[in-house]
Amino acid sequence: MPASNQSVPTYTLGEGCPIADPSTQQRFGNEVPIRGLMLLQDTQLIETLAHFSRERIPERTVHAAAVGAWGELEVTHDNSWLTSAKYLNGIGKKSKVLWRLSTVGPERGSADTVRDVRGWGMKVFTEEGNQDFVFNDIPVFFIRDPIKFPSVNRSHKRLPDRNVPSSSMFWDFHTQNQEGIHALMILFSERGIPNSVRELNGYSGSTYKFTKDDGTFNYVKIHFKSNQGVKGMDRQRAAKLAGEDPNYHSNDLWNAIDSGDFPSWTMCVQVMSPEQAQTYRWNIFDMTKVWPHDDFPLQPIAKFTLNKNPDNYFSDIEQAAFSPSTMVPGFAPSLDPMLQARMFAYPDAARYRLGVNYQQLPCNRPVAPVYSPYERDGAMRHATNYGGDPNYIRSTLKEVNFAGKLGSQGFSTGCDHDNWAGQTAAFTSEVTDDDFVQATMFWEMLGKQPGQQEALVGNLVADIGGAIPRIQAATVDMFARVHKDLGKALRDGLAKNTK
Ligand code: NDP
Repeated sequence: MPASNQSVPTYTLGEGCPIADPSTQQRFGNEVPIRGLMLLQDTQLIETLAHFSRERIPERTVHAAAVGAWGELEVTHDNSWLTSAKYLNGIGKKSKVLWRLSTVGPERGSADTVRDVRGWGMKVFTEEGNQDFVFNDIPVFFIRDPIKFPSVNRSHKRLPDRNVPSSSMFWDFHTQNQEGIHALMILFSERGIPNSVRELNGYSGSTYKFTKDDGTFNYVKIHFKSNQGVKGMDRQRAAKLAGEDPNYHSNDLWNAIDSGDFPSWTMCVQVMSPEQAQTYRWNIFDMTKVWPHDDFPLQPIAKFTLNKNPDNYFSDIEQAAFSPSTMVPGFAPSLDPMLQARMFAYPDAARYRLGVNYQQLPCNRPVAPVYSPYERDGAMRHATNYGGDPNYIRSTLKEVNFAGKLGSQGFSTGCDHDNWAGQTAAFTSEVTDDDFVQATMFWEMLGKQPGQQEALVGNLVADIGGAIPRIQAATVDMFARVHKDLGKALRDGLAKNTK
């Protein structure tokens, strides 16, 4: 019996009762080999089977398949001119980070090397509370009106009847919602399938604000630039790997970290003053647009490194919950309607998936002290539940300090963009030729890199070819609005395909 050795755990049931043999079940009678009935008093058997039936929690509707790891964020520059967020001030300062990189459409357990946007979930554990970055590996998104969010995602998933993905459905959505053209161009470029999760960038997409204690702020777009370089994978290799090594990206990241080859990214910002925002050529609250680098160059502020694999995938990565609403003083949302809607939707999804007390799970729990006595009880309350402290505001029975700025989370005011009034109207954005300008810039930029335009055309032809003819034609017309050469190349490629 090794039980006396402290390093060897002693098996027990969930409430600590030691059991000699986990492979046994209690049965009535002594006759061998046929014994009598099993017993309801067999807690080991009942608990084992009942727990197994409950092992799965609801899968994320999107971003279900992921890899993840632990790391740190280190300040590399003097950022005091930009933000008063403490975790970004003081060169050399380090904060612990949890990172989760996911595909969007496919289910948990699907192949890593599919063409899809990658979600970049990152939780920085700071002394002022958690700071989440819920970004993507492409700088723009398919839509800018949040009411379309369920639709765009469903069109990338499975047909309601056949339960398979469908090119007709995918391109039907996008030809009817052409504001996604810029994101589509990037998705179908070589970057649409990353070579590894170490060789991709993370982009905020949405515009945020960095704020300062004096009430001033700047608009920012945040970029995490891979120090490994950015590398895509061609669709033939990706398809082969999806069959032969569907966990290719997961293994690659695990092995790199395990061998001490820690991947890192440079955290950069593009910074725009409120005054510049008022006259800028692009709507900075439109998630389908970038800020060209020439207008707003990238400025490095910190270094992010992954240096530890999860101890347990479920407890560290599956139970992780990220939200754009999780932010610290010195960081604030902009008016981007996608961002505003996501600030509601992500915590709402976590409450459904993990329960109302998901913030207390070890992987989500802040390192900063939390005193939130007006959020009480609920399923799976893990901590002390604030004992007898008053659970209503303005109580005179116990003193509470209030340190945050009015408006909470350091939200700044004072800019014209924040002061609005008017009548409510139902609104959806119109798509105009202007929505194609940055897609054209992208096409022209690819033209300066050998083989990149051809790769985009080949990837598009391979996918569009699966749609019904009417939708193929509409899709080619949409890409012809980007550039006539692109339209022609697609038309020629599809015609060759059908010969
Ligand atoms: P630049 O002409 O200054 O640079 C182009 C940027 O595009 C690069 O910095 C790189 O972004 C990215 N890129 C380079 N090669 C590829 C490729 N083969 N596939 C996909 N992306 C690539 O950019 P501008 O800012 O003037 O914008 C031109 C176009 O570049 C835009 O229309 C946009 O689609 C795209 N782009 C712009 C980004 C931005 O934030 N301004 C970011 C990413 C793409 P990175 O340095 O981030 O790797």
